[in-house]
Amino acid sequence: MGNKIIPIHAIHQYDELPDKMEEECGVFAIYNREPVDNIAYLAYCGLFALQHRGQESAGITVANHGHLETVKGMGLVSEVFNMDDLSKKIGNAAIGHVRYSTTGSSSLANAQPLFAQSILGAISLAHNGNLVNANRLRHQLELDGTIFHSSTDSEVILNLVAKRARLGLHEAIRDTCNTISGGYALVMIVGNKLVAVRDPLGIRPLCLGKIRDSETYVLASESCALDIVGAELIRDVAAGEMLVIDDKGVQSSFYTQEQKRASCSFEYIYFARPDSILDGLDVYHVREMAGRYLARQQSVDADVVIGVPDSGIVAAIGYSEESGIPYSMGLVRSKYMGRSFILPSQSLREQAVKLKLNPMRQVVSGKRVVLVDDSLVRGTTAKKLIKLMRDAGATEVHFRLASPMVKSECFFGVDISSKKELIASYMSIEEICREIGADSLDFLTLDNQRNILGGNKFCEGCFTAEYPLGDIEINQEEKC
Ligand code: SF4
Repeated sequence: MGNKIIPIHAIHQYDELPDKMEEECGVFAIYNREPVDNIAYLAYCGLFALQHRGQESAGITVANHGHLETVKGMGLVSEVFNMDDLSKKIGNAAIGHVRYSTTGSSSLANAQPLFAQSILGAISLAHNGNLVNANRLRHQLELDGTIFHSSTDSEVILNLVAKRARLGLHEAIRDTCNTISGGYALVMIVGNKLVAVRDPLGIRPLCLGKIRDSETYVLASESCALDIVGAELIRDVAAGEMLVIDDKGVQSSFYTQEQKRASCSFEYIYFARPDSILDGLDVYHVREMAGRYLARQQSVDADVVIGVPDSGIVAAIGYSEESGIPYSMGLVRSKYMGRSFILPSQSLREQAVKLKLNPMRQVVSGKRVVLVDDSLVRGTTAKKLIKLMRDAGATEVHFRLASPMVKSECFFGVDISSKKELIASYMSIEEICREIGADSLDFLTLDNQRNILGGNKFCEGCFTAEYPLGDIEINQEEKC
């Protein structure tokens, strides 16, 4: 009997629950009047920049004046696409998608872009977000004889558009958007046109750019994906706006009169890359200000400020600048471990955080440490990190969170399935502090988050349990 080698993909079932809010998807689109041979490569680059928004599957549809070809697969952008194949695909438009989904829903059938034929021509759709009424709409469509190939709410949107195709493109999209409810950013190729839509509250992000010295338009979930293809950010797609891009240029219209705005505040805290600008706000600046406000909220005598890589680092820099306590890199992150690295036993899982993050003994030994992270979800990672700091010789660990207490689930495209999983939903700050073993604990207050973001145009549902959409139907479809 030889050693039994277990392939890594065979032990997914042992993965522990993620201790972060997880984004559900990223979308990218590009349109050029004439076919070019690098359109698929540019879409690949855009998706590469959005990889942090989803690592489960990736897909690109290339369109050559209405003829669509899709490549998609499970895994990272760099694993799914073959550059030799992509470079052979000539087209005038492309859309792309990266997907994250909860454990158990991983399948190629749910990978996007999704495809349907309609009387408007072939439709390819990529979606970021989550519909709150998808269950009911899917049931109605199924009663009408619609056949579904995936378990995603995105396919509900695709079928609604296809069913309304006889109304013409604008009316089909308008009517669909007034039927669905939730947070969504959509990019679609319909026939020979590129269409982009953002939900009526602007919950999920979407921006428009243009490649310098060209007539090539680009759309992406985040502006960092425009940078990578040499495009300039023109503006964000507005809440409730539909853009149709074709050889006449960009046509804008609104499918709703809704005046309320509720962009996801968590994009700034954790999801988006710090080099992105969303709805006019620089993500890096927001995180830095969160650190500064944290330092003002509660002073502490300490020797060093350390950020938890990656999304706690900018807030830690802000904290250090405001408090005058020096910043140092006290945690080193392994670059080669995906978020779903799998370990088959509890004892190995206990050590998993060490595989991801290693404390720098020479930085923390004998020091009073302020440890800054972006948010606290289940508290399991925080507890391990604080123990790692103490094991490395820290004499005190003061834990700071650059967001308010996460107390409630998200219904708009972010993976927190149950309120019971959130430590702040059932413990006070003092109880959490004891539970994670910190010397002190503080969260950014909601008021200070509002001061930083400016105004009340943001969704705060996961902090307050007050959601920008009144009636929320609970869905069983996969989010995307
Ligand atoms: S509930 Fe939280 S994560 Fe979800 S959209 Fe609102 S702010 Fe974002």
